[in-house]
Amino acid sequence: MFLWRLAVDVLPSKNTLFERTGKGDPCHAMCVFTKETLSHLFIECLVAKAIAFCSKWGLKLNAVVTSNSQDLVRWCVNSSDQMVNMLGGKDFTTLLLATFLYVVWELRNDRVFESKSSISQATIRWNSLVEEFKSVALERSLEQTVVKENNWTPPQSGRICINTDAACNPDKSAIALIARDDKWKDMLIAAKPVPPLRVEMAELKAIEWALTIAKEFDWPYVDWLCDFLSVVNQINAS
Ligand SMILES: [Zn+2]
Repeated sequence: MFLWRLAVDVLPSKNTLFERTGKGDPCHAMCVFTKETLSHLFIECLVAKAIAFCSKWGLKLNAVVTSNSQDLVRWCVNSSDQMVNMLGGKDFTTLLLATFLYVVWELRNDRVFESKSSISQATIRWNSLVEEFKSVALERSLEQTVVKENNWTPPQSGRICINTDAACNPDKSAIALIARDDKWKDMLIAAKPVPPLRVEMAELKAIEWALTIAKEFDWPYVDWLCDFLSVVNQINAS
């Protein structure tokens, strides 16, 4: 139902309402200075990026390009082969992406109508929605599918694995991290805004922040995951 509403372009985003009525404020409630287009709300916004990355699937939205509601629906129901292989099947990928959009929309509504919102709660909610729908809608097809969680391999016994990431827009940046133990249990999910930085600097900033946190939590043995190769090379060389 939600995808259908999206496909026929009836989601009342603030920018859509502003363009159709000339009234109200077109800006995203969570960014204030950026127009709440659907592409911004679901893909380009740092809030959406943080939810996607902080989930257990570690999704990155940087390479996703959408310009309207139909593009967003295509992204869900006609995902790239790479995405389908990575996530473990076409039906599961559609389920995952559709519930992601739904959760981002819910979070936006919480902020607009109730002045409250929590990225970590949205991530938890997304996970539980996926589990709920998976057991109902995909039970049979998933029996033949191995669901892979992107990029994650549990660390050796007694170690913590920390995955860091950064997202950069011209006017702001955000850094995020997720830490898991050897049982693959989430120890910490965190994200925070930082001043505008080049991507490389923001990635470094994320690692620096994660190091501070590892010290605070007294995690002596940490494996690091960062997919920005030049940053990894620089650290290894220094
Ligand atoms: Zn935004």
